[in-house]
Amino acid sequence: MTDVTLPDLVGFSNFNGIDVCVVGEEGDHWVALGHHDPADTLEAFNRYARYVIGLDDVADGLSDPDTWPPVEPLWAVLKEHCDEYGSAEHGEVCYECRDIAEAGWWLDWGGTDQTPGAFPIMVLSF
Ligand SMILES: [Zn+2]
Repeated sequence: MTDVTLPDLVGFSNFNGIDVCVVGEEGDHWVALGHHDPADTLEAFNRYARYVIGLDDVADGLSDPDTWPPVEPLWAVLKEHCDEYGSAEHGEVCYECRDIAEAGWWLDWGGTDQTPGAFPIMVLSF
């Protein structure tokens, strides 16, 4: 593994030295750039929830933190098109490609540290 450069992405806020954001149509994925201690990352997520969104915490106080899924260290790449892009099945109009273009950036965290262009992230998915 060589040195990785974290992308400079719009929409992240820094809490306790960790850049965090919430993504997904339902706001169900909390993402931090870089690999960090899971507890520190969760604290940064909760601060983002409180100060940026106005929730009580990442679950808006609706569930016991002991029941939350773990904050996982993963590897992400920036995605520019959907998986079907360029194939014969890909239509003229693709809502996923449109969403990706409108979002400005899109993360795909299905890879590993060996995936070309991958950078480390922490993810909490509800
Ligand atoms: Zn597409």
